[in-house]
Amino acid sequence: MAGKREKGATIGFVPTMGALHEGHLSLIEASKTNCDYTVCSIFVNPSQFNNPKDLLKYPRTEQKDIDLLVKVGCDIAFIPNVDEVYPDNHKSIKVNLGGLELVMEGEHRPGHFDGVVEVVWRFFEQMEPDNAYFGEKDFQQLAVIKRMVSEMNSPINIVPCPILRENSGLAMSSRNVRLSKEGLQASIYLSRQLMWAKNNYGKLNVDEIIETVITRINKHDSFTLEYFEIADSEFLQPVKDATILARAFIVAEIEGVRLIDNMALSY
Ligand code: AMP
Repeated sequence: MAGKREKGATIGFVPTMGALHEGHLSLIEASKTNCDYTVCSIFVNPSQFNNPKDLLKYPRTEQKDIDLLVKVGCDIAFIPNVDEVYPDNHKSIKVNLGGLELVMEGEHRPGHFDGVVEVVWRFFEQMEPDNAYFGEKDFQQLAVIKRMVSEMNSPINIVPCPILRENSGLAMSSRNVRLSKEGLQASIYLSRQLMWAKNNYGKLNVDEIIETVITRINKHDSFTLEYFEIADSEFLQPVKDATILARAFIVAEIEGVRLIDNMALSY
């Protein structure tokens, strides 16, 4: 890597937890378009899972992932094991995330963003990429990483990438492979609620939208709703009156699989 940098080559980095799908590949494509070399990491980071069962059940398809990376022309696959990433003497970093870590995913998955910050920063230090690519699918994670880079005075350019969806509207996710045919079909309901919120944003009160969506999901037998929120897209604080830069965020469990999605709202 150092040799390539000496020659002035640019490096794009795409961190993932594997079980790659087209959403991940769109990040790799974006990196290939902008950078001379693209590195994709595959690492299921234990420190960002607050639920040990969730970690255990996380899909792992390493050989298939490597084949896909070769096919799309990713230059380097970085697939470390846990001991390499977290040697006995490793030091954790502490970053002031300004409250971004306290809402939504932070509130529902205590310690999650400490784990995300820790692993992404370790990879950034090792790789020193010019650009790093993150999906808006995990919008709060993207906000946290931007904040981390700014707090650490890092020159790494964080590039947000749009959410890739199935034709049905379901956001692509590694976790979708754990759903039955019926579960997959039912899951479409989540993105439909986001679309409904988008279509009614600025027409109905924000509270009315939130209440309607929560009631609908709770009535639906298949889902256990974790949260549905409308928040501003910078600080991720709840929005009371319709403003331009807001997003709807939803997390629900179906067939024991935790699905996360969000959508920009405009009116
Ligand atoms: P993960 O492997 O789930 O940790 O995701 C790795 C990266 O891919 C993260 O930056 C995600 O936000 C991004 N990603 C996952 N799913 C999608 C999707 N459907 N569309 C765009 N980006 C995605």
